[in-house]
Amino acid sequence: MEQAEVSGIRDLGTGVAVGTSQGDLRADVAVVSTGTWLNRLVRPFGVRVPVQSGRGYSFSVPAAGAPARPTYLAGQKVVCTPLGDGRVRVAGMMELAPPERPVDPRRIQAIIAAARPLLRDVDWDARRDEWVGSRPCTADGLPLVGPTASPRVYVNGGHGMWGVALGPLTGRLLADAITTGTAPAELAALHPLR
Ligand SMILES: Cc1cc2nc3c(=O)[nH]c(=O)nc-3n(C[C@H](O)[C@H](O)[C@H](O)COP(=O)(O)OP(=O)(O)OC[C@H]3O[C@@H](n4cnc5c(N)ncnc54)[C@H](O)[C@@H]3O)c2cc1C
Repeated sequence: MEQAEVSGIRDLGTGVAVGTSQGDLRADVAVVSTGTWLNRLVRPFGVRVPVQSGRGYSFSVPAAGAPARPTYLAGQKVVCTPLGDGRVRVAGMMELAPPERPVDPRRIQAIIAAARPLLRDVDWDARRDEWVGSRPCTADGLPLVGPTASPRVYVNGGHGMWGVALGPLTGRLLADAITTGTAPAELAALHPLR
């Protein structure tokens, strides 16, 4: 079911009922992976580790003068990614703020100020596609992967800066745990009820 907002999950004892904006779903188990919005759905199942929004920003600029290959400006913590259409995406920043808050222009200016000394001939005023998105960050820096107080409700989230790289791996480990009933040892430190 796509484009459906989940309002809540109920443990029925034999399965789960998932309330959504497109009606109820029934299933054997539920895996909650709602990113920075994780806490609301899993708090009723005993998950207390806060997941906070660590927001990153990006925008695109015409490419003349910018790197032709993906480039990490390590000292500035800014990434330049060629988009293939003559523009380069410039990304960076870790802002602790609510996920719904709009783009803060001061953060864009901070990225420009950091990158400007290293990049020649970039028309910073011709930037487009200003964007902000949330990294789901846990209080202790480790993801939340595994069961909750309900044996039918699981969590996979809180990967912070590493969800693209680690999500497929923790997804596979969690699928193994659910289907075999035995949690792989790698998941011990990531238990959602820690
Ligand atoms: C600028 C930036 C650069 C990054 N670079 C990297 C990188 O180089 N490598 C890397 O590994 N990671 C990187 N990350 C981190 C990575 O993007 C995240 O860790 C990852 O996206 C988290 O995945 P997720 O599925 O847990 O959460 P999300 O991607 O946030 O997905 C959660 C989804 O749940 C949906 N949702 C929320 N609530 C509900 C609800 N009630 N009902 C239905 N749907 C709901 C949301 O709409 C969203 O689609 C970067 C992040 C940023 C912002």
